[in-house]
Amino acid sequence: SPERARKPDWIRVKAPTSPAYHETRKLMRDKGLNTVCEEAACPNIGECWTKKHATVMILGDVCTRACAFCNVKTGMPRKVDVNEPQNLADACAEMGLEHIVITSVDRDDLPDGGASQFVKVIEALRRTTPDTTIEILTPDFRNKHERAVAMIVAARPDVYNHNLETVPRLYPTIRPGARYYASLRLLESVKKLDPSIFTKSGIMLGLGEERLEVHQVMDDMRSADIDFLTMGQYLQPTPKHAKVIDFVTPAAFTAYAGIARAKGFLQVASSPLTRSSYHAGKDFAEMRAA
Ligand code: SF4
Ligand code: SF4
Repeated sequence: SPERARKPDWIRVKAPTSPAYHETRKLMRDKGLNTVCEEAACPNIGECWTKKHATVMILGDVCTRACAFCNVKTGMPRKVDVNEPQNLADACAEMGLEHIVITSVDRDDLPDGGASQFVKVIEALRRTTPDTTIEILTPDFRNKHERAVAMIVAARPDVYNHNLETVPRLYPTIRPGARYYASLRLLESVKKLDPSIFTKSGIMLGLGEERLEVHQVMDDMRSADIDFLTMGQYLQPTPKHAKVIDFVTPAAFTAYAGIARAKGFLQVASSPLTRSSYHAGKDFAEMRAA
């Protein structure tokens, strides 16, 4: 039997070539911004950047953690860039984004875990491009999460996203350093502090999780009042990362989406190439219009 499962033909990724893709790339370079699209080697980069949809990664491109699925470099991060919030807001205004997704590496080295930089980014965006809706995708802030979440919620992003990534049984191997219930409680606390903020979370499939474990994660998310759910196929970024255990079929993703809707999520995105930020702007606009 083959060492690694072969990619099925529904995981087809087009090479990024469009002029709009190159414009997005140049703008990110000019403003000195990192994107998770590049750092995570996201398969949707051609499509998203052509549509001028990008997920900006603040607080540097070096992470204090080393999750088994993630392509971001691990090490000692650099100093926080004080110009980053305004550079990001300027890039967002230049691109004319209706919706922006902002994430960060995990900064266990900073006293506030990086929460104040999220706040500064939200404030700069509100000043510079007030009509853009803001989605933040935060780390778990480990033992600083109460203060960090309170600070960020007070800045009022439109969507607060934090990914559970996988089922609790697989945390020790896939997401070491994180705790499943702490992540759930973080999202629940956002909703308790400000019910007008939409909460969102996601998991990757294909890491060896069982169907009933996925259903249980959905139930846990709903009991924490999480509004939006994303599910996508895990892809191994390099041979050093966690192996793909199976490729979940598009039909199985659709079946999961049906179950998730029945469980009461306001919005569900579930397909092999779904990522946490894939079509986030379009989906959010549609949800608000509905
Ligand atoms: Fe970037 Fe998200 Fe699109 Fe991937 S799905 S290219 S991370 S915006
Ligand atoms: Fe990647 Fe986030 Fe894990 Fe850091 S904490 S290794 S950026 S998934």
